This record gives sequence, C-alpha cells and structure tokens, in this order.
Amino acid sequence: MSSSVTATCPFCDSPAAVAFVKEGCDICDCSACGHRFAALELSPRHVDTVYGDDYFTAGGAGYEDYLAEGDLLRAHGKRYADLLTKYTPPGTMLDVGAAAGFIMRGFADGGWTVSGVEPNAMMAHHAQSQFGFDVAVGSLEQYQSDTQFDLVSMIQVVGHFYDIRAAFEKASRLLCPGGFLLIESWDQGSWPARLLGEGWHEYSPPSVVHWFTPERLANHLAAFGFQEVARGKPKKRLNGAHAKSLVGHKIADMPLSSVMQAGLKLVPDNLIIPYPAFDLFWGLYQRQ
Ligand SMILES: [Zn+2]
Repeated sequence: MSSSVTATCPFCDSPAAVAFVKEGCDICDCSACGHRFAALELSPRHVDTVYGDDYFTAGGAGYEDYLAEGDLLRAHGKRYADLLTKYTPPGTMLDVGAAAGFIMRGFADGGWTVSGVEPNAMMAHHAQSQFGFDVAVGSLEQYQSDTQFDLVSMIQVVGHFYDIRAAFEKASRLLCPGGFLLIESWDQGSWPARLLGEGWHEYSPPSVVHWFTPERLANHLAAFGFQEVARGKPKKRLNGAHAKSLVGHKIADMPLSSVMQAGLKLVPDNLIIPYPAFDLFWGLYQRQ
C-alpha cells in the first residue's frame, strides 16, 4: 500500500499517509496526532447523501428497521442516565444524532429535559410527533442555538461528522461551564478491530469517516477544553431482526453464505440478544 502523503488531518492539518484502501477510499493516519480518517471531500451535503431514509430502513450497514429497536434504545439511554447520576444530577441535554428519539426517551426516563438535533427529517419528525420532543433537523455543525446545556450526548455519532473540529467546537459552546459531553463510539484499538484489520465492520466509508481509540479521543477533546472524567464499555442488547440484518450483510459474499443465511432465518426477530460490545467504548468529558 502506498505510504505517500495524500491528505491533511482534519484535526491538526498535519500530513497523513495512506494506511489502506477500503471501498475505494484512502484510509489515512495523521503523522502528528495519529488520527485515522477517510480521505474524502466532505461537505454539509454528506449527511443528506449518507443518512437518507434508506440508512434507517434498508438494512445493510444501517438499520433493517430502526423503529423496531425503540425499546432497546430507550433502555440504552436509561442506562446512560443512570450512569451519569454518579457525576451530575439530571438537567438539560442535547442529543446529537437523535434519530427517532428513543435514546432521548431513556434520558427523559432518568429525569433529563431533552432536546435533539438529527439530520434525517423523517426520524426527527418521528421524535417530534410521537414523543413531543424538540428535535431540530440538520447537522450539529450547522445547528444554531443560544441555549447552554448541562449535557451533550453523541451516541455512535463522532465517526460521522463531516467537519469534526466545527462539531467539537459547537459542543463546547453549547455546554455550560462544567457541563458534560458523553460519547459512545467504536474503538479502533479494540481486539476485534485489530483482529479483523481492514475487514473490521466500522471501516465503512463514506458513512463512517473518523476512527478513534479512547485515548486519542480524549487527547483531541482536550484541545477543545474537555477533560476526560470516566470511560468504560457499554452493555448492549440487539433484537433478532437487527442482528440478522447486520450478520447477513457481513456474510453476503462469503462461501456457504446461503447456508448461513438459511440458519439465520431461524432466529426469531423479537429475540433479545446480548451484544458483545468489545469494540465499543463510552467516554465522559467535562467542559472546563
Ligand atoms: Zn492530526
């Protein structure tokens, strides 16, 4: 693979070298800060093209039927709300990439006053019409508000920002001094990621364009005035339908795929499957 300089780091503008090519896209490592990113020309239109309605409903790398995941996502949000009680009482929060509002419901269950921002209009409308939540349609980079929140949450979102510096600056500005930023993301340094190498499912440009380890994310955020408070591994649950969508997508090109697909069909859609989230992490960061 080429090691020539082809791109500049979206965090520190240092030159980056190509680590490998995935889906025809150069995956680059910054020579200075180590940030791994997809060398793509990104613009605000990125979110429209990647997170159209198909992302949530057409299966593949997205969600077979995101709405069917509602109860699991609500419970996931509530677990984070419970976790946060160790660090801060409930207050006001902005959920970035709020989708249909299910994670917000979990936080609301935990006593938080919730708002959201979501690029997909269909999902945002669901959160507004079904739950009465205030969800702005758009990206965080373009989100405008004079409100200062006690918490900004980004659950599986940071890999997708088209302007990551603008996004972290915005998060800092939207938080009260002493407010918290909660991030859940995929860990590039985890053993599944290292074992699978270029075949790791999260190397999926153009949907995902940034990859982190907990350590590097904490270092990046320090430049935006955030100090890491805690980190850990989320406990996740999937229902059978989503698991089948994910696994079916991964084995589609493998030998014996049809046999495995047939076996998968035997998994009931409503079965709750504990998800081994070895390659996920969460971090809590406090605005100084
Ligand atoms: Zn860099």
